[in-house]
Order: sequence, then structure tokens, then C-alpha cells
Amino acid sequence: MFDKILIANRGEIALRILRAAKELGIATVAVHSTADSEAMHVKLADESVCLGPPSARLSYLNIPSLLAACEITGAEAVHPGYGFLSENARFAEILREHEIGFIGPSPEHIRTMGDKIEAKRTALKLGIPCVPGSDGAITTDEEGLAVAERIGFPVLVKAASGGGGRGMKVARTAEDLPVALAAARSEAGAAFGEDSVYLEKFLEQPRHIEIQILGDGQGNAVHLGERDCSLQRRHQKVWEESPSPALNDADRARIGDICAKAMRDLGYSGAGTIEFLYEQGEFYFIEMNTRIQVEHPVTEMIAGFDLVHEQIKIASGSPLSITQDDVVLRGHAIECRINAEHPTSFRPSPGRISYYHPPGGLGVRVDSAVYAGYTIPPNYDSLIGKLIVHGRTRTEALMRLRRALDEFIVDGIATTLPLHRALVRDNDIQNGDYDIHWLERYLEHHSDRIVQEG
Ligand code: ADP
Repeated sequence: MFDKILIANRGEIALRILRAAKELGIATVAVHSTADSEAMHVKLADESVCLGPPSARLSYLNIPSLLAACEITGAEAVHPGYGFLSENARFAEILREHEIGFIGPSPEHIRTMGDKIEAKRTALKLGIPCVPGSDGAITTDEEGLAVAERIGFPVLVKAASGGGGRGMKVARTAEDLPVALAAARSEAGAAFGEDSVYLEKFLEQPRHIEIQILGDGQGNAVHLGERDCSLQRRHQKVWEESPSPALNDADRARIGDICAKAMRDLGYSGAGTIEFLYEQGEFYFIEMNTRIQVEHPVTEMIAGFDLVHEQIKIASGSPLSITQDDVVLRGHAIECRINAEHPTSFRPSPGRISYYHPPGGLGVRVDSAVYAGYTIPPNYDSLIGKLIVHGRTRTEALMRLRRALDEFIVDGIATTLPLHRALVRDNDIQNGDYDIHWLERYLEHHSDRIVQEG
């Protein structure tokens, strides 16, 4: 086991990793920019190193500074958290060249899953169900038309280098297709400097369902059930829950076993998430995230063990300590992402928190790194905390979430708490009746009320 690790991140996830390390008896090194000198992860770590100025490029993404920080402090491994360098294969490679551990999968697996066309090919080979579509890039209208006729309209044109939902265009008929291809190409070229596109069947009302997996690269892998992350705005997740209100036990076991077997065959090491769209009983792979995710606590609450502990143990060379039979998922968990943003326009709202009171009680978990008197810098992501509740049933979890949201006070800045207070009271949400487009439709009709009642 490692004696000391460096946490190459900030905010709630840096604190989350620090807590896991302390519980394993591992010393911690925090890193920070000059904008984060007063941050909680810096205060609670055993040591800290300032990486550079506020700009992430010059601090949290600055690989030479991070290497120097490892050298100065003698940290044996780096946990990258999510975002920043967590899916940068080159960073994992450089650490390996310097004989510093990377708490995550191999650079090869990060690279494969980071390329959308390559990831889909790999998934197909591993027996993971994918959205029907073209095998690779589409270069001419005729080729596009042939694929579209084979898979059936409507189709979605997607940028091979895409990210954040950009470069995607729907074509409903053969007449629409040349326009959609040209539009997607020019949007992708402008956004990513690379304009190759591919085709997929367009799913009209899917849910976003993802499977949490853990592998040790030594022939063992397990799945920990699913998370339903269908409540999204502009492809950003807002609320996540497990189990999904839409899945039955047979569906869960089927897709979970496919994913665990695929990860065993791949020799995958670490935590990962395989993301699917789910429609009418079928799963369609969209991508794999080779890191810990924001919404991982939802799984921890029902599985009862610490995913970051597992990541650290796997990276230090230990085989998985659990088998699939040891994984028992109990009750229901829901997570709300609390952002420093206006609750309906989502305009960022950095600034000083004048008063802070998080909720507590049975089945309530708050993962956050803010405190009263803390000033949220304008330079980074606006996530300031996550409220996670657990109940024996979905109904109990919803009741608990409602009272926990009502207790939560963050004064001095705008937050998305009023949106969550409205969502938890909504009939469709209570019935579990929502798809990936539900939240955007809801916001069109209810924004005024959310602001007034919040
Ligand atoms: P990106 O990397 O740009 O985020 P993804 O492939 O992960 O792209 O897709 C982002 C989102 O776009 C999905 O969460 C889903 O909402 C929508 N989407 C992607 N593929 C399809 C599809 N074939 N049909 C319908 N919606 C899709």
C-alpha cells in the first residue's frame, strides 16, 4: 500500500479522496492554485503545494508543476479525481515514466475509450450492445444515405472528435441528410479542428443509464448496478439515482454481467463507468468514462462500500477484495448536484458564502468543500456540493430528500437548491417518469415558479 499520495484536483472531489486516503492510513498532499489558498482541501491535507496562478492551464493542468510537487513531497501515486487530467492518457504515461503511480486505468485504456469511434469498435468487440450506425467515419452523402437506409430514419450525425454534445445533428428523412452532414461537419471543424463525422440511429425518448464497474487488471471485475442520470440540462447531469425507476432485476443483471465480463476480457484496472442510452428494454453504449464520476456516491450508498478505497487499493497492486456475490445493493439513493448558479438560467454565481448550514440526520450525506466565509473563485466548475440521501425504498428516499433540501442553507450566492426543491415535489419525478429531454421541457414551463418559490 502507498504511504503518501498526491491529489491532483480541488473542491469536493479533492476532499472526498483525502477522506478515503486518511481512512486507509495514507498521508495526503494537496495541490492548489493561488485562487485556492483558502480552500478546504488545502486546510485538511497533511501537506500542500501551490502549483501556479488561477488559470487551470497554469495550475491544475500543469504537468511539470505536478511532477515537481510529487518529487518535493515524495508522493508515490497521484489520484486525478474527475475532470482536469483524469482522462489524459499522456499524463498517466508520464507518471509511469517517472515511476509514480496513477490511481486509474492504464494509459492504453484511457486512450482507447477517449476516442469515440475507437471506443465503440472496442465495445462491439467486447459484446457490449451499441447504437446501430456506421462503422467509422462517413465521407460522402451517398455513403451516409446507404447507412441511414440500413439502420432506418431518424439518424443522428455525430462528430468523431465530439464532446459536450457539440457537432450533433438529427436527420429525419433522406432529404435532410446532406444538410445535417454538412452542418455537423462545419460545427465539428469549428469546435474541434477536425471534421470527421459518423452516423447513429437517433433514439427519440431514451433514458441515460450507466453501469459502475471495478476491475483489478488481474482477471477480476465486478459491476455495482446502475445509475439513472436522465435528468440533464444541455447534457449536464443534474440529479442521479440508483436503482433506476425504469429497470427490472433481469435487465440489471443482464447488462451488469455483460459489462463485468467485458472489463475482465479487457483486463481493465480501476473504477469505470459504461454509459448507455436505454429505450424500450434495449441498451445502447454511448461512451465509457475511465475515472471516478461525480455521481459515484449514489452507488456507494446502496452498495455500502467506498469506491475510492477500492481505486487506491487496486492501483497499489491489490486484487479486488470482493466478488460479484459480495455485491448486495440495498435500498434507494438519490443525488442532487448543488451548483453556484442561478436555478433556472444557470448563470454562474461565484462569490462569498455568508452563511452555510448543511442538512444531516439518518441517510443524509453531503459531499462539499465549502464553508461559511468561503469565497467561490470564478475560475472553475460551479459544482459546490452534492446532497445524497438513502432510504429503504424510493418513496422513503424522496421524503428524506425533500426534508434535507428544506434544511439546506447557502446564503450570499445563488444556487440550484430551488430547482431541486421543485423537482422533488413534481409528479413525474415522484413516479420516476422521465427521459433525457424531460428537464429541458420542464424548465421551459416552470422557470418563473421555481424562482418565486425558491
Ligand atoms: P458527447 O461526447 O458530445 O457528450 P455523447 O455521445 O456522450 O456525446 O452523447 C451526448 C448526449 O447526446 C447523450 O447523453 C444523449 O443525450 C444524446 N445522444 C447521443 N447519441 C444519441 C442517439 N443515438 N440518439 C439520441 N440521443 C443521443
